Amino acid sequence: MAVIDIRNKTPRTNGIRPLSAIKKIARHHSATATGNWDAFWPHWKNTRGWGTGGYHEIILRNGDVELCYDPEEITNGVANQNTSIYHICVVGNGSFTDAQEKTFDERAKIAMKRFNLQPKDILGHNEFPGTNTSCPGIKMDTVRARLSSPVASTKDDTAYSSPALKDETELNLGSKARRQMIVDQAIAAGYNKVWQTKLDDKSITDADLLALGAGTSVRNSMPKVEDVKAK
Ligand SMILES: [Zn+2]
Repeated sequence: MAVIDIRNKTPRTNGIRPLSAIKKIARHHSATATGNWDAFWPHWKNTRGWGTGGYHEIILRNGDVELCYDPEEITNGVANQNTSIYHICVVGNGSFTDAQEKTFDERAKIAMKRFNLQPKDILGHNEFPGTNTSCPGIKMDTVRARLSSPVASTKDDTAYSSPALKDETELNLGSKARRQMIVDQAIAAGYNKVWQTKLDDKSITDADLLALGAGTSVRNSMPKVEDVKAK
């Protein structure tokens, strides 16, 4: 699974909100057999007259995900209720691939943690009041049951389109293994070993981990002495 960051090319006119305004995660389908942002945007812009796209994330048929907007951006997904919703679209028409479902679960868990939400807060488009649509084309009770059960950790084969995105996503997952990895990398990059102690006694905060992750990226991107000499 790859996370493809397209946030720098998506237009936006809807405005923003604080993260605390997000109360629900909506699952959609595209109601098309195939597609991606580039395929959907002309319809949204020209037919619907939108200045912002329909979703924060689009999960492609192969399980890769296009990250379209930061969660602070208000996107279009459920009329008149978008201010409180984070939108995830799964490309397909009532039929989805195993790779897509695996990605949806991963992305939904990241979003739940980030916005402090529960499986009950993940709704299909047609579960919101006042809607009349076949979207999202799947039984949401099944999806929510999946998200309620703890999943054994699996090999991480996720690829990211930028190091910053990788740091951000890993931090949001917040698993013990990922926290350990951030600290390991930070210490390898020259940070004080006290961070390992803080991890062990659980006094490390998310802000600490974010700073360590970002700092490690910066340190690792600086040229080594050998590199400079070689030029
Ligand atoms: Zn929908």
